[in-house]
Amino acid sequence: MFLCGDLGPHCAAENCAASTAYLCDYPVGDDKTCDLSLCNSHAYEVAPNIHYCPGHLVLWQWYQMRTALSETPRIDDLVRNLADWQAIERAMREDEETRR
Ligand SMILES: [Zn+2]
Ligand SMILES: [Zn+2]
Repeated sequence: MFLCGDLGPHCAAENCAASTAYLCDYPVGDDKTCDLSLCNSHAYEVAPNIHYCPGHLVLWQWYQMRTALSETPRIDDLVRNLADWQAIERAMREDEETRR
């Protein structure tokens, strides 16, 4: 799992020392965003001027996929908790476990 946090001024992606051009805009609650520093190639634009780090891109894609499928009632909870990435992560983990 990609870890978010203050890892210094260079790109936070693994083994990448490029200088940063973007911050991760993924909401982590309390009107805060992930803010991980990202270079050009590791900042993924999911909407105009909205960039996600590699780890949050995975969550975002999973969330989009599950929302599109509307497979389980848990999606309703996720919609209410869109900014609660921990809830998404938890549901994602449960999802993986049920597929095993
Ligand atoms: Zn990078
Ligand atoms: Zn992030």
